[in-house]
Amino acid sequence: MGLFSGKPDQKKGDMYYAWTTDSEIEKKAECGGAVTSLLKFALEHKMVDAVLAITKGQDIYDAVPTLIKDPKDLVKTAGSLHCGTLNTAKLVAKYLDGAKGMKIGMTVKGCDLMALQELAKRKKVNLDQLLLIGVNCGGTVSPVLARKMITEKYGVDPDTVHKEEIDKGQFIIEYEGGHKGISIDELEEEGYGRRSNCRRCLYKVPRQADLACGNWGVIGEKAGKATFVEVCSDKGADLLSRAVKAGALKTEAPIPKGLEIRGKVEGAMLKLGEKWRKKDFAALSADPWGAIKKETARCIKCYSCIENCPVCFPVEEKMKGKQYMVKPGEVPPNPMFHLRRFAHISDACVNCGQCEELCPMEIPLAKFSHAIRVEGDAEFEPKLGKSTYTN
Ligand SMILES: Cc1cc2nc3c(=O)[nH]c(=O)nc-3n(C[C@H](O)[C@H](O)[C@H](O)COP(=O)(O)OP(=O)(O)OC[C@H]3O[C@@H](n4cnc5c(N)ncnc54)[C@H](O)[C@@H]3O)c2cc1C
Repeated sequence: MGLFSGKPDQKKGDMYYAWTTDSEIEKKAECGGAVTSLLKFALEHKMVDAVLAITKGQDIYDAVPTLIKDPKDLVKTAGSLHCGTLNTAKLVAKYLDGAKGMKIGMTVKGCDLMALQELAKRKKVNLDQLLLIGVNCGGTVSPVLARKMITEKYGVDPDTVHKEEIDKGQFIIEYEGGHKGISIDELEEEGYGRRSNCRRCLYKVPRQADLACGNWGVIGEKAGKATFVEVCSDKGADLLSRAVKAGALKTEAPIPKGLEIRGKVEGAMLKLGEKWRKKDFAALSADPWGAIKKETARCIKCYSCIENCPVCFPVEEKMKGKQYMVKPGEVPPNPMFHLRRFAHISDACVNCGQCEELCPMEIPLAKFSHAIRVEGDAEFEPKLGKSTYTN
């Protein structure tokens, strides 16, 4: 069978340990470099015209979305940035014409993927043009809070940290002079750790991507040196099959115990997500209107929440007679400014947290819109919670 013809050896549902054969990628990659190698292979062999992935900017707190067209540059994107809180979906709609004229390979976390699907429903993104390499995601840490946490909890100057990772439930930093890990549970009990929307997330393994890749379940000799790849679509099977045949990466069957561990960790993370939902939403349910009124009283109407929401596309107010949705020139605006947005995205909020993360006044906007989405789904679309993903 030729390299680029015939049935792929890999098929939907298959699972592998996979790692790169490229020594440069291996050095920089998080867990063996399968993700970067797959994207590089797709670009080299014109399966995609460009790759949208993340590169490290000034430091580990600075995750920069980057469009790559030269396969040689892909090595720059290797490695996981846990302070990379960005969502790349809206960038595809806003700056890349929804991928309508270009095939794009992308690394996606669960929230990037859910947002892409919402955008596809609104015909703002063409999913057929995308090759999606999902990365499992236990959550990200806000860069501002990460700096504070590293100073206060680790007793380390955040500017001296050159690497961070999340392993076995710990947030671990490597800095000039050593390394230190603290359990995420302990950090979160003290108000540090993952963003609150990530804590509530129930989409840890992005199985609606073409491949879902992560480190959970990689044990034995390959621990830390390979990625667990779950094949989720025919497109994913085709890519993996071609890349393995061409020698771009190697695979082997996962250790059965590893498979079991992966399932258990995912289950435990989902339980934890449910726990955080209960906690956050219970605190809100006592007086939701009061909470919204109190928190949004800090709003400076900068529109960052609207600008950065991947599913919010407001239509400019061009009505005659100045019948504005919300009275202009008032700061803080009437809370209806926020309530109208919550209503507008109530069937689509993917809990990516961009509104809250980028709010200069630290209003817990994601908690409000997520609570509304979850409550609406439970009331009106109860089966949604049992579908392949839940926001
Ligand atoms: C924020 C984050 C959290 C993760 N949490 C888990 C987890 O809890 N459990 C688990 O099993 N696996 C998790 N992973 C996946 C794991 O860390 C590895 O990315 C995966 O095993 C692939 O390793 P690799 O060596 O093949 O990837 P590499 O070849 O190193 O490629 C990594 C890819 O991730 C992209 N990337 C880096 N940072 C981000 C970001 N913030 N957002 C989107 N894309 C990014 C890079 O651009 C690159 O394309 C997480 C990854 C990220 C990015």
